[in-house]
Amino acid sequence: MGPLPQKADVVIIGGGIIGTSIAYYLCKKGVNDVLLLEKSLLGSGATGKCVGGIRTQFSTRINIEFSRLSRKVFDRFEAEFDVDPEFHPIGYLFLASRNDQWEVLKDNARLLKNMGLKVELLEPFEIRDRWPFLRVDDLLGGSYTEKDGFAGPYEVLRGFTSKARHLGAVIREGVEVTDIQTKKGRVHAVETSTGERVITPLLVNAAGPHAARVAAMAGLDLPVRPLRRQLYYTDPFEDVPPHLPMVIDLEYGWYMRKEGQGFLLAGPQDSESSFNQEVDFDGQEWTARRSLHRVPILERSKIAGGWAGLYEISPDHHAIIGPFPELPGFVCANGFSGHGFQHSPATGILVAELIVEGEAKTLDIHPLRPQRFREEDLIFEPLTAFRD
Ligand SMILES: Cc1cc2nc3c(=O)[nH]c(=O)nc-3n(C[C@H](O)[C@H](O)[C@H](O)COP(=O)(O)OP(=O)(O)OC[C@H]3O[C@@H](n4cnc5c(N)ncnc54)[C@H](O)[C@@H]3O)c2cc1C
Repeated sequence: MGPLPQKADVVIIGGGIIGTSIAYYLCKKGVNDVLLLEKSLLGSGATGKCVGGIRTQFSTRINIEFSRLSRKVFDRFEAEFDVDPEFHPIGYLFLASRNDQWEVLKDNARLLKNMGLKVELLEPFEIRDRWPFLRVDDLLGGSYTEKDGFAGPYEVLRGFTSKARHLGAVIREGVEVTDIQTKKGRVHAVETSTGERVITPLLVNAAGPHAARVAAMAGLDLPVRPLRRQLYYTDPFEDVPPHLPMVIDLEYGWYMRKEGQGFLLAGPQDSESSFNQEVDFDGQEWTARRSLHRVPILERSKIAGGWAGLYEISPDHHAIIGPFPELPGFVCANGFSGHGFQHSPATGILVAELIVEGEAKTLDIHPLRPQRFREEDLIFEPLTAFRD
């Protein structure tokens, strides 16, 4: 592989969907000395565990704007990156069984419509008419966005990575950043597991669930915690309905979508933070119980296997994007709270603008600044696929 460069204009820590997107958009803006360091394999973190959901249904303007900007990129992805992102427009259906959840869906629908986006609020009988395999007797209603869907995380990662490399980015696997050095109050260099040091004025923390550890290397407090989520899939199932949206049950933080001729079923998420990525029997049992409750025909299917991944949760379930005022040269792109895949194009565009032009121009990312936590200026997102 050869030695690492001794210096770089920008060092990106982490080769998931966020780091590779930022690398690509930086190169596209003409920064030609970008070094991305990934401690393991590209995409081996949360990105490789993710189910690829892409939705407009969020509760805050900033999240919806991120979805809208990212969707523009997904829609012309193949033309820009020569890779088919495998987008499946299956639609997204959120289900509410309690008044507070139903109010959230109604508020969201108003916001989406105000922003010119299409969303349908459905009564339980309307849900049953469209998707007869769903149990609806405990529901108050649902909200449906037919143009949402899912895409392939590896395909999108491959697009960002190959184009970034083509434009000159150096992307190295198997190199861990082990320490961050500062000089005169700003970022100066990174130490790595190979024993080499790379001098840089600018670091991007794109370490996903490990983001707090990376920030701590620079003495910074970043409130991002890892949270395990288990997922299971069924054997091919001859009764799988032809039209199956992504279904998210807000009551349990359970969701499902079609995967080939079977189902992909959300398992439980942990209540305590950890880096544990095992699947376990209790998780499988939880999944079977929740899935049978909502989709009784699953009685005739069989869970074939599963995996687990780590969400990177921020206290208000919004990304943390921007520089730390106390350490010039340290930029965060973290805390995506379960929606980092779908927001990766927007994040790449905006972080590149921030670095090259001094501020994000396409969208105002001030609400996502790292210091919002100590300023107690949070922007809570209730519409997540997990409960905490
Ligand atoms: C089960 C599950 C389902 C999900 N479903 C969806 C979904 O439907 N839609 C959606 O939008 N999002 C979803 N997500 C969230 C999404 O996967 C993440 O938000 C996204 O992948 C985060 O990307 P990332 O690049 O920040 O992190 P990662 O992919 O984790 O990449 C970070 C990388 O940094 C590397 N790294 C860490 N520390 C260092 C270091 N010191 N030196 C060098 N490298 C380092 C890691 O090895 C890792 O590869 C899901 C997540 C999970 C766990």
